[in-house]
Amino acid sequence: MPVSDPAPLYLGIDVGGTDVKLGLVDGECRIVDSDRTATSTLKTPQNVFQHAVEFVGNRPIAAVGLAVPGVLDTRAYVLREVVNLEGWLGVPLRDELARITRLPSIVVNDANAAAYAEHALRSLGGQSLALVTLGTGVGCGMVVGGDPHGGDHGCAGELGHIAIDFSAEALPCTCGSRGHLETYAGASGVIARMIAASGEDAGAITPLKIASRAERGDVICQNVISETAVYVGRAIGMMGQVADPAVVLLGGAMTFGGSETKTGLQFLEQIRHSVKETTLVQVGGNMKIEFATLGNQAGMIGAAMVARDLL
Ligand SMILES: [Zn+2]
Repeated sequence: MPVSDPAPLYLGIDVGGTDVKLGLVDGECRIVDSDRTATSTLKTPQNVFQHAVEFVGNRPIAAVGLAVPGVLDTRAYVLREVVNLEGWLGVPLRDELARITRLPSIVVNDANAAAYAEHALRSLGGQSLALVTLGTGVGCGMVVGGDPHGGDHGCAGELGHIAIDFSAEALPCTCGSRGHLETYAGASGVIARMIAASGEDAGAITPLKIASRAERGDVICQNVISETAVYVGRAIGMMGQVADPAVVLLGGAMTFGGSETKTGLQFLEQIRHSVKETTLVQVGGNMKIEFATLGNQAGMIGAAMVARDLL
């Protein structure tokens, strides 16, 4: 009996400041095998790619995708700006990846890779999707018309630095500008608003505690979360008017419990309301806003799926 070729596998590499995640992913977004190693152990791009070659061994791989943080020049596949990754700036990443792995190679921004994974999982075809990540900062990856969208300067979807407060009291942002979403809806922004509203000691407050207290009925915490939803909704509304994506997903550590809790679900509902309030009915009324589902494996899966589809 003839033996048919095994289904092709794709290698996804997700490099972050803390760890390097490797995943062998099949054509249906399923992880077949994975590995996680501290970035401080591997350090350079060359070491990471060599480690990936050893991880793969003699398993047949069709293509490899690399997800990196920071500002990626998507013509030269070179990082122009990145924090916490020494030795990665200015390196021709795609060429090095291809040289060491001897595989068809592609490089993508990690936020866009994560968005691409959620897009592939939902089989959205030519539709657009944005994945908004709420955490220490506010990030956003975009898939426009079925392709990851990095923008001409590697900065597309920088939702954290969209201005949502234009008043004289607008707060200064870490980037040097003022009134940006991240200052209000990033972790320290939420904590600062909680301190202002409650007069409590800064050391005791974390976003997780705000979420659990809100779940138990604490009105001040509930109000801080509602306010956060209004800010996030305004920014999503602006993005909606520009890019008009079919789906917007919320991920990251700051979803106040996400789909698991009443507080998280209410946060989502308030964001939907805020988006509808600030957009045309054809945009806000049709945009599906949900929680993301892939968590911190999304970058790795997305890198592999970009390699599957774009090479
Ligand atoms: Zn900013």
